[in-house]
Amino acid sequence: MSTHITIEPLGQAVAARDGQTVLDACLRAGVWLPHACGHGVCGTCKVQVLEGEFEHGGASNFALMDFERDEGRILACCATARTDLVIEAEIDEDPDAQFLPLADYSAELVEARMLTPTIRGLWLRPDREVPFQAGQYLMLQVPGVDGARAFSVANAPGEALIELHIRRVPGGRATGWLHDELRVGQTMRFSAPSGRFFVRKSAQLPLIFVAGGSGLSSPKSMIQDLLAEGCRLPITLVQGARNIDELYFRDLFEALADKHPNFAYVPVLSDLPDSPDGGDWAGARGYAHEALKTQFAGDFRGHKAYLCGPPPMIEACIKTLMQGRLFERDIYAEKFFTASDAAGSAPRSPLFRSL
Ligand SMILES: Cc1cc2nc3c(=O)[nH]c(=O)nc-3n(C[C@H](O)[C@H](O)[C@H](O)COP(=O)(O)OP(=O)(O)OC[C@H]3O[C@@H](n4cnc5c(N)ncnc54)[C@H](O)[C@@H]3O)c2cc1C
Repeated sequence: MSTHITIEPLGQAVAARDGQTVLDACLRAGVWLPHACGHGVCGTCKVQVLEGEFEHGGASNFALMDFERDEGRILACCATARTDLVIEAEIDEDPDAQFLPLADYSAELVEARMLTPTIRGLWLRPDREVPFQAGQYLMLQVPGVDGARAFSVANAPGEALIELHIRRVPGGRATGWLHDELRVGQTMRFSAPSGRFFVRKSAQLPLIFVAGGSGLSSPKSMIQDLLAEGCRLPITLVQGARNIDELYFRDLFEALADKHPNFAYVPVLSDLPDSPDGGDWAGARGYAHEALKTQFAGDFRGHKAYLCGPPPMIEACIKTLMQGRLFERDIYAEKFFTASDAAGSAPRSPLFRSL
């Protein structure tokens, strides 16, 4: 049996199969709804149901509170329709969005190696080309784990292999399996592309990227894509890591900075030994937002900023950027939510919406 979901204010209707989530039905029909984690923990895909009956599915109590449920709100990534539905969603126009429909892929793991003690790099050969915009993510199915997990694609579009950077989450079921069990030669399944974290190329403004930990994945894809197409705008990457062992792809970005005069690379380490030489580290020290402030002397006017990584790093960077007069319309963020982040998250700023 299938039902119809009408999305307001578009007025467009899409068909949903039995058990298919509202978000999945919309994305596969080419209707984009805001979303992020894809399994009920971040709350980005919250929409209002105006008519019809539904099941909430696995929406976490932290991401969708009781009073919101009473008011008819759902998380589109978990909710399924019991009857035809009319929903109201925030849909904004974006000249840089390509509206690539979501599709399913299978892929063989052809290479895996530890990039740092906590981040494993995976290279997958998909069964066919995966269209995506640099910065977007895929939803990976992990054997024995309910709900697919979000991982950002780290290679530029058009390459033969899909590259992922997987940070092991302590106690995390999916990332634990991807670190400990997944072997070269195994087949994985995923859907792609997801998300709206991509470069607003039409703005033609200098670009700032801030990456924390495995949050290097999206910026790596975006920067390699920009440089490959001959972008001449100033591009700065601030890469935050705890220590030298956790700083990865430094050689790659140093080589890109040597080759492209418009690209500046600023690695910054937060957890250095107390010794005055900081264990021989000559680069920036402290947190990513502090290095960001120093690099731009606290003035970010006239830029577009793209932030990717753990939610606390992103919140700190947003504050720094806003103090330096860069505001919401020029800041894009991809928060790498986990279930524990959602459980412990403070109420989100009403001024800023994660993309
Ligand atoms: C858009 C997006 C893109 C992402 N891209 C990347 C990427 O490129 N690379 C990367 O490394 N990560 C990325 N992430 C993060 C990644 O998706 C998560 O790390 C992953 O989903 C964790 O899955 P898991 O099964 O290992 O952990 P989970 O089992 O989901 O849980 C993580 C932790 O939370 C605890 N926990 C679970 N439920 C609760 C609860 N209710 N209350 C309190 N604690 C709980 C668990 O015990 C565990 O310690 C991205 C996330 C998003 C949203």
